[in-house]
Amino acid sequence: MPASRLSNLFGLLLALVLGACSTAEADEPGGTVLTNFTLIDGTERPPVPDAAMIIGGDGRIAWVGPATQLQAPAGSETIDLAGQYVIPGLIDLHVHLAISDGLATDPALLTPENIERDLRTYAAYGVTAVQVMGTDRDDIYAIRDAQRTGRPESARIFTSGQGIVFEGGYGGAPGVNRPVSTPEEAAAEVDRQAANGADFIKFWVDDELGTMPAMPPEISAAVIEAAHRHGLRAIAHIFYLEDAKRLVEQGVDGLAHGVRDRPVDAELIEAMRDRGTWQVAETLSREASMFAYGEPAPFLGDPFFTRSVRPEVLARLRSPEHQARIASNPHFHDFPRFLEMAKTNLRRLADGGVRIGFGTDSGPISRFPGYFAHWELQQLVDAGFTPAEAIRMATGQAAEFLRAEDLGTLEPGHWADLVVLEADPLADISNSRTIRSVYIAGRPVPLDLNRGAGEG
Ligand SMILES: [Zn+2]
Repeated sequence: MPASRLSNLFGLLLALVLGACSTAEADEPGGTVLTNFTLIDGTERPPVPDAAMIIGGDGRIAWVGPATQLQAPAGSETIDLAGQYVIPGLIDLHVHLAISDGLATDPALLTPENIERDLRTYAAYGVTAVQVMGTDRDDIYAIRDAQRTGRPESARIFTSGQGIVFEGGYGGAPGVNRPVSTPEEAAAEVDRQAANGADFIKFWVDDELGTMPAMPPEISAAVIEAAHRHGLRAIAHIFYLEDAKRLVEQGVDGLAHGVRDRPVDAELIEAMRDRGTWQVAETLSREASMFAYGEPAPFLGDPFFTRSVRPEVLARLRSPEHQARIASNPHFHDFPRFLEMAKTNLRRLADGGVRIGFGTDSGPISRFPGYFAHWELQQLVDAGFTPAEAIRMATGQAAEFLRAEDLGTLEPGHWADLVVLEADPLADISNSRTIRSVYIAGRPVPLDLNRGAGEG
């Protein structure tokens, strides 16, 4: 038998085997066709009007292009999205799952059921992937790994397991993290996270406005060195410019919040740009939330907010006593200044060519999963970014940080993680809230959050 016939035969067998595999994975063999929408694809390309997309039965994008060139596969379901806009699913690079119920922080809340509840809430707000910043228990890996071998039905997880906290210092979640006192302990704790399968290493360097001891430089150096030894990136919570500079010098891979004490200077900007250090998230909505509840916050009556907030949490946020307690924080009048500093600094970093992601620090009390991503987009526009830039930070750029090559942009071969909007988010960023449907791995996720159901 000639070699070419042999290789043809081999090719036929291979096709049969591969075909059998993909048929086994696909539960919707015909796939789904979306058509007649405006495509905002998460890259730097301009929006494409009258676009169409073929989502394969495997949940990935098989084709995307002008609707006039669409060749819908036989047996596919076609959904006409005339007048609608499609963006990639948002990626929140700074969250904490299931650490509060909106009223209190309690390690007993950190259950797989509450993690799933948060992931469904993120998904219902169009956030299709989250990066958890150091407050997970080890059971997160079973949930994450099940997602990665299948087709998730709620937001995808990236996790650092337990982040590294200095003994007596700021950070972590009570009952979850194991504080360290020496460089050796810090390195051993990083080793443990790496052995568990952490996607990256998180650590906290902050003195909480002078009220707690900060992690000493020899320990942050040990954390970064140990992370790199495992091929993992080390991401630091910071507040002060001087800490940011020292950590960048020590080789940190990203900053989990903005510098908020003073303006970033050319030295930091150049160091971050030249070393490829990411501003992983600026968490502007976190800063805004530090003072928003000192009065009746303007969104307390917004159905897009209240859809995910339990009645007793809303009642507390509306109570004058609670507002007075928030306003009595000794730093209450500093918080607006920290927000403005963070906005100014993010603009400077962007103008200086530093790579920027997107994140909210949602999950703790009064910082609401999903809603805060849309508030963050709004804050970015308030800080001087265009809606297109803000959306790109929250999609394609965030996926670049994750090194998730099949997330963040709507291109062939990528997962069909996307949000259908009823109005143009490039014309007004608040239109990111006009969510008609959300797809993860090619399937629509429930938007009904059953507010308060089944929760104590
Ligand atoms: Zn955080």
